[in-house]
Amino acid sequence: MKAAIVGCGATGLAAAWELASAGHEVTIYEAGKEVGGLAAGFKDPAWDWALEKFYHHWFATDTDILSLLEAVGTRGKVQFHQPVTSIWRAEGNVPIDKPVLPVALLARVVNVLGIPGLSLWDKLRFGAAGFLLTKYKNGVELEKYTAEAWLRRWVGERAYNLVWRPLLIGKFGEWYDRVNMAWMWARLYKRTAALGTYAGGFQAALEDIAEAVCAKGATIHLETPIHRLTPVAGGVNVETRPALSRRFDRVLSTVGPGLMLRLAPELSGEYAAQMRALKSLGAVALVLALDRQLMTDGTYWLNLPAQSPDRRQNPFPFLALVEHTNYVAAEHFGGEHIVYLGDYVPQEHEYFRMSEAELADLFLPALAKVNPDFTPAWIRRRWLFRAPYAQPVPLVNHSQHIPLVKTPIAGLFWASMSQVYPWDRGTNYAVEIGRRAAWAMMTVV
Ligand SMILES: Cc1cc2nc3c(=O)[nH]c(=O)nc-3n(C[C@H](O)[C@H](O)[C@H](O)COP(=O)(O)OP(=O)(O)OC[C@H]3O[C@@H](n4cnc5c(N)ncnc54)[C@H](O)[C@@H]3O)c2cc1C
Repeated sequence: MKAAIVGCGATGLAAAWELASAGHEVTIYEAGKEVGGLAAGFKDPAWDWALEKFYHHWFATDTDILSLLEAVGTRGKVQFHQPVTSIWRAEGNVPIDKPVLPVALLARVVNVLGIPGLSLWDKLRFGAAGFLLTKYKNGVELEKYTAEAWLRRWVGERAYNLVWRPLLIGKFGEWYDRVNMAWMWARLYKRTAALGTYAGGFQAALEDIAEAVCAKGATIHLETPIHRLTPVAGGVNVETRPALSRRFDRVLSTVGPGLMLRLAPELSGEYAAQMRALKSLGAVALVLALDRQLMTDGTYWLNLPAQSPDRRQNPFPFLALVEHTNYVAAEHFGGEHIVYLGDYVPQEHEYFRMSEAELADLFLPALAKVNPDFTPAWIRRRWLFRAPYAQPVPLVNHSQHIPLVKTPIAGLFWASMSQVYPWDRGTNYAVEIGRRAAWAMMTVV
């Protein structure tokens, strides 16, 4: 088979590995300058590791990506550490990922009980709800409830308002009360306190996979955006420039739903309607290199509870504060302390229009809430990254509305973050869906 893959992120690479390993001729087209997509990083000459544009780590349960790295021969470069995850409270950060119990979900529930403001009854209900969730081996059956309705019922109004509602608002903004409970179950079920990274950063992991894929005979064309995917007899034409196209027997596209519909306008009917109905948010990350540590309690990941979907109404105008060098040693970044100020917002949001300087002016004053000594003079350098398609939003009964990997166009396949479910999208599930897509390309007639 002559196969083409559009996009050289984790999904495209995993599919390429399967196809090339099975002896097929694989050509990957990537619009960007480097492989890796959303998980790609950048490197300063003074650093010996690349830094992810957006904060990334693996959970110990991420068996698909770990097994791909095993197959590629670089699993030994994965490093697991147990950094501190906390929730911000005005009176001080509350750690929630202390290794208390071997069962990850219950451990988190027990840790959360340390949050001030919960009565004994709230704590008992909290514990019971956590226990109930551990009983679901497949949480998709929870998709008929919104996370809001389920949590209100089982953990009670106070615990919902104090712990879960702020987290849901932070992650999903305006969509917070429509996200389904299967997403929340999956998030809790798969999380582990131990978090994994790769020697050299995620960019190094994806480059190692790309190198292995090429060693199997695949070809990667960087800076080669695809403009059009056209059905033709016995295959699909892949157009790199107007009037320059190549025919392939099978094509896998890994781009978001909006772009996919533009690349292949022949997609129509129920399938295209399903694609159009998919909801997603974009991501914004302001990255700072500081001359000293910001969160001196050692917190890596600080959840910033939001009371309002309007970012400007909250104590922090962003969702997460991630001090990367409280997880990965600062020595890999020339001794600088790396901090991400990250958020998920719709691509129409002002954070996609504001300049880097405007966003910095809005975000930076909030850092004094986690370290009263902070001043912008600590910042040596800063970068801004934005991705319009970054976080799918799974609504009630989502499983019934996910478009299939095999599109109605013969020979054309589509695998994206929006089809990952019930798990929250991530490089692990990109590998899982990439493999699944490759198998479909090899077997579906
Ligand atoms: C803020 C943030 C935090 C995250 N945290 C984590 C984490 O901690 N752990 C984790 O595992 N995952 C995390 N993820 C998710 C992870 O990055 C994604 O799930 C994964 O990278 C998706 O891979 P993909 O290949 O499906 O898509 P992408 O990475 O988006 O790859 C698609 C590729 O297609 C290319 N492309 C687009 N248009 C064209 C075109 N016309 N022609 C050719 N190529 C094109 C793009 O350049 C891109 O390289 C995070 C994501 C974000 C945004």
